[in-house]
Amino acid sequence: MTFDELDLDPNVLKAVQEAGYTQPTPIQAQAIPFAIKGRDVLGIAQTGTGKTASFTLPMITRLVKGRARARMPRSLILCPTRELAAQVAENFDTYGKYVKLSKALLIGGVSFGDQDKLIDRGVDVLIATPGRLLDHFERGKLMLSAIEIMVVDEADRMLDMGFIPDIERIFKLTPFHRQTLFFSATMPPEITRLTTEFLHNPERVEATAPATTATTVEQLLCRLHPSRREDAEREKRDLLRDVLRGEGDALKNAIVFCNRKRDISSVFKSLEKSGFNVGALHGDLDQSVRTATLDGFRDGSIAILVASDVAARGLDIPGVSHVVNFDVPIHSEDYVHRIGRTGRAGRTGKAITLCLPHEEKHVEKIEKLIERPIAAMEPPGGPRPAPRAPAVEADEARPPRRAREDRPQRRAEPRAPREEAAAPEPVRDVARAPRREDDRPRRRSGGGRDEAVVGLGDHVPAFLLREVPKRALRANVPDDADDQAA
Ligand code: AMP
Repeated sequence: MTFDELDLDPNVLKAVQEAGYTQPTPIQAQAIPFAIKGRDVLGIAQTGTGKTASFTLPMITRLVKGRARARMPRSLILCPTRELAAQVAENFDTYGKYVKLSKALLIGGVSFGDQDKLIDRGVDVLIATPGRLLDHFERGKLMLSAIEIMVVDEADRMLDMGFIPDIERIFKLTPFHRQTLFFSATMPPEITRLTTEFLHNPERVEATAPATTATTVEQLLCRLHPSRREDAEREKRDLLRDVLRGEGDALKNAIVFCNRKRDISSVFKSLEKSGFNVGALHGDLDQSVRTATLDGFRDGSIAILVASDVAARGLDIPGVSHVVNFDVPIHSEDYVHRIGRTGRAGRTGKAITLCLPHEEKHVEKIEKLIERPIAAMEPPGGPRPAPRAPAVEADEARPPRRAREDRPQRRAEPRAPREEAAAPEPVRDVARAPRREDDRPRRRSGGGRDEAVVGLGDHVPAFLLREVPKRALRANVPDDADDQAA
């Protein structure tokens, strides 16, 4: 099928050709013929399938006939995030460059004043996040009674973000005879209920089976077995650095996804400290910062973007070479969305997921959803972590703490086989041994140079052979004095 066969306005066709598209994508080929006739469409499609054009192209074609009245927009597109709304607005600029249509973008974090002025003049296309749209409505600045076409984009994300009551309310504020174009990557029951209630005899179109992952993305799972529970996050940050470095020149840029906002901040700081060119993106940041960070990532001045699902959902950033899941996503669908940020438009990409033992359960769910196992990847530099030299050295310098001394019993407990295989416990114990053995013989005997040091085999580190000053011996320090201080 070609775009010429889709009955699009000639000016829209011209813009599409200039965008360099030769063929409609499957979702476009299926959705546009119905949308252009005014039918309701239920599109099951994830980002990266060309779904935005599948509603913007027919919308523009239909809206060129007609004129907007003040405060009464003719069409409405609801998006879950500001970034996504801004992206849809850019699509309108691209495909609508040869037609005269006015649009307004209503998103939070931007002053009401400018948005009010646009609405007052009358707009053909209103692109909004639900909260900001209702704010305008409640201030009496906006009427939704002239809406001819309403689009709900990324409905399942709206559900995750708790927007469904807002969406229902907005549906009820628009005329019953509007046309509705409704898109969702997945169809949980709550979304199905919404479509049953508010769509009129919709044509269901599906780009790919829900929640499939692009075949152009190489997916890998890098397991980490931390030496101690409290070190897990730090060791994961170390692993992240090694993984990024291990990709060498193949890594042009990357989005690193974290499950929690506080991890975004610690991962950001750790990468920045290690000299990476990094930006952070999450919902709590000021809109101007979010926009600047995204622009920086798009133009290449930021190479690594540490982001939350909310902020990065649906973003179309072509040419992302890598996605790294710092955390295994808890919702399997998020995995599909995250890795969909790379390997876009037929390009190749790589998605690496870091996994702690307690995250294995989420991996299982993901593998079930994508119907294939994720290949295991050796951490760069081999299985990890043999206790990292600097950490052990630092331990040597620090006084022993009671908490640590209490641990051997717990360490002796049997562990799961995989943890045993990769966990560095035995090595750490050996590394710790010199200090403890060292303390006792010296205190007991006076630490003479010729004294045998117990427990070290043939090798005795030089620092153990140093003469101990008499003064220190006289102090008669009890063995656990440091523990009590700690
Ligand atoms: P979307 O799924 O709407 O986020 O679109 C994903 C990407 O596909 C965007 O970069 C679009 O510019 C691009 N795209 C949309 N339609 C086509 C097409 N027919 N041919 C090639 N690329 C397209």
